[in-house]
Amino acid sequence: MSENIERRRFLKGVGAASLIWGPMGCTSVEDDSSNTNKPHYVMVFDQNKCTGCGECKLACNTANNLPEGKSKCLMEHQSGGVEGKACPHCGKDKCNCERKFVRVSCQQCKNAPCVSVCPTGAAHRDPKTGIVTMDKSKCAGCKYCIGACPYNARFINEDTNVADNCDFCLSSKLSKGELPACVQLCKYDALVFGDINDPNSYVNKLLAVKDSVRMKPQFGTEPSLRYIPVVKLGV
Ligand code: SF4
Ligand code: SF4
Ligand code: SF4
Repeated sequence: MSENIERRRFLKGVGAASLIWGPMGCTSVEDDSSNTNKPHYVMVFDQNKCTGCGECKLACNTANNLPEGKSKCLMEHQSGGVEGKACPHCGKDKCNCERKFVRVSCQQCKNAPCVSVCPTGAAHRDPKTGIVTMDKSKCAGCKYCIGACPYNARFINEDTNVADNCDFCLSSKLSKGELPACVQLCKYDALVFGDINDPNSYVNKLLAVKDSVRMKPQFGTEPSLRYIPVVKLGV
């Protein structure tokens, strides 16, 4: 199965359940109060602000030196279509129909099945940051991690034949003291990144006042990616 098809399946799975308040449950900054000695890096995607421009995807491709057209983060057109396709309502590429987008990428689970099943230690948690990442030299290409991920968020890099996931640009940006590439490039402030265990961080303060949801909490993976769903104001 090609990467594109696999990742579209991921889109479908996430989209079907995405940003629905009931089964997701609201989360808040208090969720992380039990472990304040270590950093816990989280990313927040605010659906109210995302325009679906796709700059984050391009930034990811460049920053992580991925094969042409590939990215560790995708944008799903939540009202039914897929990025790059015509509007499902009117069929036009540009229209006035309502459009909502949702980020699709590794959820950076606190309980990460991809790490548990990896027989070689290639998929692992960085001891300093706690971020789920890869030791590419150890990867056997067995794809166990891909099968174990409930979000279909992993893929094989066709250039290297090694499994990969979004690790918040751990080596390409964070190690240099920079924000993840997608966060840097988003002009609409739809992406926020930081240490939720730092009481002075913006992300801590944001999630203290904004309700957010996690994808598929029933799997017990405790994702570190938070979503602020579109809120429609009454008239
Ligand atoms: S760059 Fe920002 S606004 Fe554009 S698609 Fe990505 S998250 Fe949405
Ligand atoms: S979303 Fe998938 S790839 Fe990412 S940490 Fe969770 S199980 Fe691993
Ligand atoms: S494909 Fe690589 S990272 Fe995934 S389980 Fe196999 S050895 Fe581990």
